[in-house]
Amino acid sequence: MRKFFVFIIVFTLILASVIYFTFTYGTNFLSSVIADIIPTEVQQQIGENTLKSMDAQSFEKTALPTHVQKRIMSEFYKITQQDSTQVKLLFRNAPYPNAFALPGNFIVILDSLVKLSNDSTHYYDILGVLSHEAGHLHYKHSLRLIIKAGLTGVIIGYVIGDFSSFLATVTHQLLSLSYSRQFEEEADDYAIQILRQNKISTLPLANILEKLSNISQNSEVPEFLSTHPVTKERVKKLKENNF
Ligand SMILES: [Zn+2]
Repeated sequence: MRKFFVFIIVFTLILASVIYFTFTYGTNFLSSVIADIIPTEVQQQIGENTLKSMDAQSFEKTALPTHVQKRIMSEFYKITQQDSTQVKLLFRNAPYPNAFALPGNFIVILDSLVKLSNDSTHYYDILGVLSHEAGHLHYKHSLRLIIKAGLTGVIIGYVIGDFSSFLATVTHQLLSLSYSRQFEEEADDYAIQILRQNKISTLPLANILEKLSNISQNSEVPEFLSTHPVTKERVKKLKENNF
C-alpha cells in the first residue's frame, strides 16, 4: 500500500513537471524544431513578401553614397565570413533608424541608422548592429516568432505540403512581432563573438544602442526598440565584454 502511495506521488510530480515544461518551453522548443524543417524556398518567400510590402508602404531607395554602401557591405561580409549568396544585406531609406533580419537570410539597414554612426572610416558601430542581426538570422529568430504566432497554420501547411495560406498571414505578423529578451541576448552574444574574432571593440555597438534608446524615448514610434528592446543590462554586458 505504501509503495502504491509513493508511486502516485512520484507519478503526479512527473506529470506536473511535464505539463509545466510543455507550457513554458514547449512552444519555444516546437518552433525551433519546425523552423529547421521549413523549406528554404518558403523561408525566402516569407522574407521577400515582407520586404515587398515594406517597400510599398514605408521605404524608399537608399540615398547613401555607393562607396559607403560598398564599404559597409564588404566589411560585414569579411567579418562574418559570408557573402551575398548567404546573406543579402540591403539598404533602404526611411526617416527613422532601424535594422532588422528577415527569414530567407535578408538583413535590411535604414539610412537613418547609418547616419547615426560615429565612425565614417570603419563603421564599427554599424558592423556591431549588423553582427547582432546576423545572430538573429543564425538562430532563425524571426522565423521562430512567426511559427510560434501561427503554429496551427504551419502544421497544416506542412501536412498538406502547401504553405500558401500560412504565407498570406505571416507578412503582417512579422511586421508587428518583437524579439524576446532571450533572443536579444542570443543575438548580442553572437555579435560579441563575431566582433572579438575580428578584434573589433564592442563599445561602438554599446554606444549606438544607447544613442538609439535615447532617440526612441523622444519619438512617437520607437521603431528599433519595438523590435529589439534595448535594456541597460544589454548595454552593460556589451561594455563588460570589451577586450
Ligand atoms: Zn535584436
